[in-house]
Amino acid sequence: MPRPLLSVLIWGVSGVALPLGAVAAPLQGEVTASQGRWTADGSRIVTESVIRTDAGQDVVVSQLGGTADGLTMRLFASDGRGDGVDALPLVVGARVSLEIHGAATLDGRIVHVVDRVLPGGSSDFVRTGPTKAGQFLSWASGCAQLYYDSAGTVELAGDTEFALIDEAVASWNSGVAACSYMNIATQGKKSSEVGKDFINIVKFRDTKWCRPATAADPERCYSPAAAGLTTVVFVDDANSTRDGEIVDADIELNGVDFAIANAGATGGDAPCLSDLKNTLTHELGHFLGLEHTCLAAGDPARVDDKGKAVPLCSGNNDPVVRDATMYNFQTCGETSKASLSPDDIAAVCSVYPLADDPGQCDGVGGSSGGCCSVSSTSSSPLVSVVPALWALGLVAFIARRRRT
Ligand SMILES: [Zn+2]
Repeated sequence: MPRPLLSVLIWGVSGVALPLGAVAAPLQGEVTASQGRWTADGSRIVTESVIRTDAGQDVVVSQLGGTADGLTMRLFASDGRGDGVDALPLVVGARVSLEIHGAATLDGRIVHVVDRVLPGGSSDFVRTGPTKAGQFLSWASGCAQLYYDSAGTVELAGDTEFALIDEAVASWNSGVAACSYMNIATQGKKSSEVGKDFINIVKFRDTKWCRPATAADPERCYSPAAAGLTTVVFVDDANSTRDGEIVDADIELNGVDFAIANAGATGGDAPCLSDLKNTLTHELGHFLGLEHTCLAAGDPARVDDKGKAVPLCSGNNDPVVRDATMYNFQTCGETSKASLSPDDIAAVCSVYPLADDPGQCDGVGGSSGGCCSVSSTSSSPLVSVVPALWALGLVAFIARRRRT
């Protein structure tokens, strides 16, 4: 059979023809299906994904690697230019922008090969949720009360940490003041442990990056890659008028695998600095009900406030995604997350707009005892990425996000 030159057309599943060779414009859309399979000769796994383009066309694209028949084939590329060569198989539900080209198999079939996963186009902000009944999370009161664990941290001089917590809180409060009633109301120091006690606390972990054992449950340790962790407990009950209401949120900061720092200064001895304002400002975003700006490996698909699919982090160089305080990753010593991006501010102002001010600032405890079925999302560790690890493509191993 002559190899037809006419196969200079690439056909998507709905018959969309694309030219052979490099395709000039990125293919942008949402991943609606993704399936790994062994090639017919059994030598490699490829993953084929259907992209529903913004124009409503379905295009099938192909990537090397993936999972089929109980085996996963994973490529680790050295990302020398930081432009996302280490793309993982696409996630169903994610918004993506792809550089692709048409390539022929030896038997003349044309395949849309993915060269690069580009910035997925910015999502708008992303909220945590939804509950089983579809509600996104928020506080019901006009404020969210926050205590500081009185033990503080030994890694910062004197009581510096409490002043820095105040600064991170003020960054949110003043950043959103023009358009939102929400404010984080600091309540001073308290000796308290993390848990659903309707006392929201910032807790430093200087000796063990773990939630301590209780009489009923063993010690639970966290990923050493996480610089911070926020645990949010919320009403998850379709029959409740409070569905989606946050009732308790605690923040833990990792002083074991990181040296907690202020402007580069720290008494900690870990080689990677976790700037307190940087890490805490991000965690306070989770505290207020915000989610990350992109999908890390293993994350479920999400939508932004417009119902648009949230893009992948892998290969995503979109500044709207990466420069947000709610971006999933930080580098050692980074300080940029201490300053809110316009999306971070828009998020809080949309969830808690001035016009909806409840006009009171109450704690949750008194009114909620026993009324609700609550869920907990032990959420969203802010993962620190050492630049060398990006380069080695290892980030996917440490970028796991847990959700319970
Ligand atoms: Zn986070």
